[in-house]
Amino acid sequence: MLNFKMSELIKSDIAIQNNINNMPDINSLDNMLNLIVFCLQPIRELIKKPMIITSGFRCQKVNFLAGGKTNSQHLKGEAVDFKISGMNPSQIINIIKNSNIEYDQLINEYDKWVHISFVKDKNRKQPPFKIGA
Ligand SMILES: [Zn+2]
Repeated sequence: MLNFKMSELIKSDIAIQNNINNMPDINSLDNMLNLIVFCLQPIRELIKKPMIITSGFRCQKVNFLAGGKTNSQHLKGEAVDFKISGMNPSQIINIIKNSNIEYDQLINEYDKWVHISFVKDKNRKQPPFKIGA
């Protein structure tokens, strides 16, 4: 059973602070649902620890203020950044890498959070990598 809320993927502190309507279009919502069904829910069920989405969907304005790339998958609802209580990004990535969970990209960002993306029928399944310090 799915127990994610779409609001977990839409809520944005940057949007609130800047009074921006961070509402996804229908195609982004569709992508977000796939991300939940194929990545986030299976990760939650596999690891069984509180999972915090730190950044999900980003409209153009939010993405710009967040310093995201202009072609960021967050713009299309294809990516989320998350943390899991009591685990560091490499530990999380190792578990996902060794599971049968399908993804497009899996990135350790600054050793602070994990970025995961999913693109239905077009997953590149790139080897996990790390950016930042
Ligand atoms: Zn990200």
